[in-house]
Formats: sequence, structure tokens, C-alpha cells
Amino acid sequence: MVDSGMQSNVTQKGKAVDDNLLFVSPATGDIFGKVQIASPNQVTQSVRDMRLHGKTWAEAPVQARVAALGKLYRIMIEDIDDITLTITKDTGKPRQDALIELFATLNYMNTTLKKAPSWLKESKVSTGIQFFKRAYKKHKPYGVVAVISPWNYPLTLAMNPIVAALVAGNTVVVKPTEVTPAVGVMIESLFQRVPELKDCIRFVHGDGRVGAQLVDAGADLIYVTGSVRTGELITQAAAKTLTPVICELGGKDPMIVLDDADIPAAVNWGGWGAFSNSGQTCMSPERVFVEEKVYDTFVAAITERAKEMTAGYSEAVDAKLNYGAMTHPNQLNIVKRHIEDAVAKGARILAGGSHNNMIWQPTVIVDVTEDMLLLQEETFGAIMPIIKVKDEQEAIDKANASDFGLSASVFSENPGRAKRVAEALEVGSVNINDTISHFGIAELPFGGVKKSGTGRANGPEGLLEFTYSVAYVSGKPHPLDIATKLREPGNYKLTRALVRLMLSPTLAMRLKGVRELF
Ligand code: NAD
Repeated sequence: MVDSGMQSNVTQKGKAVDDNLLFVSPATGDIFGKVQIASPNQVTQSVRDMRLHGKTWAEAPVQARVAALGKLYRIMIEDIDDITLTITKDTGKPRQDALIELFATLNYMNTTLKKAPSWLKESKVSTGIQFFKRAYKKHKPYGVVAVISPWNYPLTLAMNPIVAALVAGNTVVVKPTEVTPAVGVMIESLFQRVPELKDCIRFVHGDGRVGAQLVDAGADLIYVTGSVRTGELITQAAAKTLTPVICELGGKDPMIVLDDADIPAAVNWGGWGAFSNSGQTCMSPERVFVEEKVYDTFVAAITERAKEMTAGYSEAVDAKLNYGAMTHPNQLNIVKRHIEDAVAKGARILAGGSHNNMIWQPTVIVDVTEDMLLLQEETFGAIMPIIKVKDEQEAIDKANASDFGLSASVFSENPGRAKRVAEALEVGSVNINDTISHFGIAELPFGGVKKSGTGRANGPEGLLEFTYSVAYVSGKPHPLDIATKLREPGNYKLTRALVRLMLSPTLAMRLKGVRELF
């Protein structure tokens, strides 16, 4: 049943209304607050403010930055229920899914705050054959980092890069997504509660226009999580000033079910990956390749599973829902367009395929072909398209035949075979016998290849993305050093002998250097 009052409120989600963004529940249509959109001057001023405060923050010992962020961490643990309620109201996801999101951030913070001092530490480097020198490298913060975030995990995908940027010594200007502004405002108020952090971060609320103003406002590094199109636009705009951009973009993740897979596990965890969060997860399986021997069994089991799943909306902490409402009305339209296109081209829906207001039913669809939008573009809905393949190689080839390369999953009871297939996939991360769980391991790098992105989040690699490395070398040129000899005219033969002696790969070649020397 479509409720027209609710529908008209929901369509305002993410849109500017009298210079404000409304907080709209996608599930009920309730409007529960608003925030003013930042003006162009406020955006520019925020970057200026952050540059002004940047020096003090960057010069503070990393332990002091960790301690300040530790205060925020404690507040977040104390406020678990308030945080998950705001996420639920703003996104439509169940409280337990909101808690999964909060867990991902707390887990990331816990690990990163403990490990950051060692990950950021300056380190000595071997000077090779310049024996008389001393060398070390240091990781320095960029300065002001612009963080631009999406709506599907509005807490985690804003918080994780903010924490990494801050602990690395940067100040931050955040442009939270316009689609879930209540979560953006909540994050801002959490930071306001820690005096040491207040001056290191600014929030500019608004839509893509405010994002574009921030990109032009002179930050030193831009970190964006969003769609491929937005990543392209930001990269083009930043190229004018050669400002570095890190992009975490969309996915069309393959899941491969080999003929020796534990089918109930593939159904449970593949189904969870495809349907949870209403399929609005960048790493949810969107193309499922199943070897023909187990195809019928898998399809029957996942269809049954999809029909048993409960999608609905509740703000109760004990609601037993598999997933909730979709967050963004535009996304529901994309999902419908993909399904209609697939059906028109001959695909068969075995479960779901319809919606009630913003609740999309878990959908299993077969007979999908490469000419369908469902296999070409990111869908971002609770849909599992299944494709029969004759063998492992066909699964790998089809999985890799995509412009995207975020993550993937492989189901097999043979560890050697699963590893072989996993390592043949052109993606940034692979789960064997599970989906998405890699994001919950804070020390693993996360990110994509191809159009799914540049750079990495999480782990030491993700933290160091917010720094640049500086090389330091000390020591006067020593008369016996090869680098000194090379700089003195007339020393060609002597240096050639030294090069042979010190850099040759075999003993015979080295001996030639010794003969030339003497
Ligand atoms: P989006 O691209 O519409 O928006 C992302 C952010 O960019 C928003 O804050 C938006 O206001 C801002 N923006 C839009 N146009 C801009 C411009 N021209 N200049 C500057 N900022 C601009 O993405 P979305 O719909 O919010 O999020 C869903 C997308 O994000 C999906 O494609 C999903 O796969 C992707 N995503 C990727 C990851 C990852 O880590 N790889 C994680 C989650 C989501």
C-alpha cells in the first residue's frame, strides 16, 4: 500500500528545502529535524580555519592525538544506543544493522588508535653502498583533508577516514552526505564534545554542490567515498590544482560458488551479503556465478531462503529483521529500472521483485545475460542475479569481465582451489566462504581496482594514505664513498670498477671489478 503523504516526504530526502536539508525517515516519512546548508563562504572559511589550526595539531605528539580521539571513542561506546537509533531513523536499517555499522567504526578506531604510533613512526633506512651516510624517513600529514562521504554506511564511511586523517596529524573538513544529514549532524556533535578535537574539524552540510565547493576550496588532500561518476567529477576538478584524490567508489562484486562448496554456507553468507542493508553495500555480491553441477541445488536453496527473509522497519533493539527500508528514493528507482530491463530481456524472477513503499523484497533472478543493466551497472539493491558457468575458469573470466573491481567471494570446501580462484580475481579484497567480513578486520587494507577506486582505507596502508613520506639523509660526502668518487671528474674507470665490485650479481663479475680496481 502506498501512503501518499509519506511518499511526498520521502522524496524530499537529500534535497535542499529553503536552504536546509530535512531529516526524513525513509521508512515512515517522518521529518525529525533539519540542518542548514553551508554557504560558499562558510565552505571556504572552514578550510581556512583548518589550515590555521593545522600546525598545532600536526606538531602535537601522535600520543596526544591518540588520547584526544580516545575520548571520542569512549563517548561513542557510552552512546551506543543513541547512535544506532539515529542511524536507524535516518537510513531505515534495523538497529542491529546500525550496530554492525557502529561496530565497524569502533573496531577500526580501537585498532588504529593502538597501532598508529608504530605505523606512523619514523624509520631508519639502509643507505646501500653509501656507507658513510645515515638515512631515515618520516610520514608527514598533508595539512587539510576534505572528507566527502556517502549515505549507505553514513557513520562508518565518514568516521573511518576522519579518524585516520586526524590521527595522522591532519585537520579535516567533512561534507557528509545530503541523504542522511541527521547522521552527519550527530557525528559533528560527537566531535563537539571533545575539547581537544573541536578545533581540528569542521562540517559543511549540503549536497553535491557543497561538495564541489569544498573540492575547489584548497584542501591538500581529498578523500571521497561515493559513485564512480562523483569520483570522476572530483578527480577532474582536483586536477586543476593537482590536489591528490583518494577515491573509494562503486562495485559489482562477483561471488563464485564452486561445485565443492558447502551450499548451505553459500546460501547463508552469500544471501546475507546480497540482501542485508537492502543490498546497499558497495561490496555486496551483485553477480553470482555458480558451477553447473551445483547450480540447481544452489538456486533452489537461495530462493527458499529469500522467501523466508523478513524485511521491514522497526526502531526496537530486539526486532528480528533481516533488513529494513531502502535509504534513498533514487536508489529504489534504479533497482526497479534494472529489474524491469532484465525481465524485458528474458530474465526470470524466482523470489521478490517488488516493493512496499521503501521496503524492497529480497529478489532472486536467473537467466540473466550480459546485455542487461543488472550485470553492467551497480544496482545497490537486495537482488541476487545468478549465472550458470561450466567450470572454474569460466567463473573467473566472467567475474573479471567488469569495469569494477572492489571485492569478491569464493565458496569452496577445497582450500587450495579456493585460494587459486581467489588470487585470480581482479579486485581489492576476497572472502573465502563468507562475504563482506574482510571490512571488519581493521588491519586489512580495503579498496578497489579499475573503476572501483584508487588508494586504500584501513590498516597501515590506509593510515599512510593521509601522509606523504619525506626522506632525510645526513652525512658529508666521504672521500671513500662511491657517490663522492662519482662526482669527482676523471674518475670514470675507478667508479666503474667499484660499481662492478659492489653491485654485480655474480662472483665472477665482482672479480672483474677487483681486477679493474687493482
Ligand atoms: P554519490 O556519489 O552520489 O555521493 C557521495 C558524496 O559525494 C555525497 O556526499 C555527495 O554529496 C558528494 N558529491 C556528489 N557530487 C559531487 C561533486 N560534484 N563534487 C563533490 N562532491 C560531490 O554516492 P552515494 O549515492 O552517496 O553513495 C553510494 C555510492 O557509494 C555507491 O556507488 C557505492 O558503491 C559507493 N560506495 C563505495 C564504497 C567504497 O568504499 N568503495 C563504500 C560505500 C559506498
